[in-house]
Amino acid sequence: MTSSLFDCAPFEDDIACFMRGLVKRNPGETEFHQAVREVMETLLPFTAEHRKYRDAYILERMTEPDRIVIFRVSWEDDAGRTHADRAWRVQFNNAIGPYKGGLRFSPTVNQSVLKFLAFEQVLKNSLTGLPMGGAKGGSNFDPKGKSDREVMRFCQSMMIELHRHIGEDVDVPAGDIGVGAREISFLFGQYKRLENRFAGILTGKGLAFGGSLVRKEATGYGVVYFMRHMLEQAGEGIEGKTCAVSGSGNVALYCIEKLVQLGAKVVTASDSGGCIYDPAGIDAEKLAWLTELKEERRGRISEYAEKYGCEYRDGADPWRVPVDLAFPCATQNELDREAAVALVSNGVKAVAEGANMPCTAEAAEHFFTHNVLFAPGKAANAGGVAVSGLEQSQNQLRISWPREEVDARLQEIMRSIHQKCLLYGARPGRPVDYRAGANIAGFVKVADAMLAYGIV
Ligand code: NAP
Repeated sequence: MTSSLFDCAPFEDDIACFMRGLVKRNPGETEFHQAVREVMETLLPFTAEHRKYRDAYILERMTEPDRIVIFRVSWEDDAGRTHADRAWRVQFNNAIGPYKGGLRFSPTVNQSVLKFLAFEQVLKNSLTGLPMGGAKGGSNFDPKGKSDREVMRFCQSMMIELHRHIGEDVDVPAGDIGVGAREISFLFGQYKRLENRFAGILTGKGLAFGGSLVRKEATGYGVVYFMRHMLEQAGEGIEGKTCAVSGSGNVALYCIEKLVQLGAKVVTASDSGGCIYDPAGIDAEKLAWLTELKEERRGRISEYAEKYGCEYRDGADPWRVPVDLAFPCATQNELDREAAVALVSNGVKAVAEGANMPCTAEAAEHFFTHNVLFAPGKAANAGGVAVSGLEQSQNQLRISWPREEVDARLQEIMRSIHQKCLLYGARPGRPVDYRAGANIAGFVKVADAMLAYGIV
């Protein structure tokens, strides 16, 4: 029996053969190729030693989504003009639970981006230990510069199609870039109207209608909890460390909040326009102002520099300053090899991905070869989906847990993800390989379920 469904050339290595087949079947989907390659670099050697997965073609099946729904979303702007945007829901794998994953609204959304995100989500959700499959969705609709009414009309129109494909035991979307509390509320309100049911079919809901405490903070807090475990494992701590954070959205703001609470100094934040460098540190008061700027007024990070008299670097990333810890929390491929070289030469000790795949493969490799602790997003940013899972549980039970209880559960989940990474990623005498640890631990649970189901 061959080791792959793909036709390998004589002497072709496993990764080259696997990727050649994948690229042929998914032409032009560069982000999807990148995400799969990163995972296969650790899973192919693992499955070479665990033949049951190879013999059942689990990797080939796991890289093919269960289904992708693509649809048109027509809506009318405030001036009465008609628009037709495109939306997707990529339902990648539901072997261990109903599909779960965010919705992204951004002009950069395309099928490749959503497939990479959904594929990563399968492994991430598995790592949380909760019964959740992996999915992702969204639209090329750009909420920036739109009025609340326009966003509402878009969300209502999108839900007219989406509602057929989701449900509390089927698929439970959440927010992501461009989809926050406002958008989730419009989407949920429309679902309720269409189905005449009050059910937990979205997470990240408002607290008045089934949302969970700590969901808003969960991804950012979780990244910091994971970093704390990585540092403790290496005999270090967070207190007193200087940190670079990118982004100023949901993940970045609450990552900064937790870092400040734990006694670290955060000197950067950014948005798609540029970054600020505040060597004195973003303290609690400045952070409250920044949060209001971003969450309420939808302003620009440059306004922070004007308000607090620090440096604003137009069009620049925040990776060129001396820091101990780095937290890329904005978007995919925002930290390339050149930025990684700058961080390493400036003394960075550890990097945790708050965003999904923010580090290019070359950047991650540079950290790895320079013994910088590196936490991939599927482990470090799993706190958001974990608390989404807890929101689903609370909805099913029709109760709300207090803040302390949700935070304690989040901390326990991040601890257990770290433990799972050690199981497959610990290397005697060398730093833990968190990439291998997260990929293999996430994979094994899903793969074992798929094996149990037979050929499906
Ligand atoms: P968000 O609230 O929309 O914030 C995104 C932030 O990134 C904004 O500051 C945005 O700036 C910035 N950004 C977007 N594109 C950029 C670019 N090309 N260059 C520089 N900055 C850019 O989104 P989020 O929920 O925080 O998500 C951020 C990342 O975390 C994404 O990769 C997402 O998939 C991942 N993630 C999110 C969650 C969650 O619970 N929300 C969970 C796990 C992973 P502008 O305001 O200028 O656009």
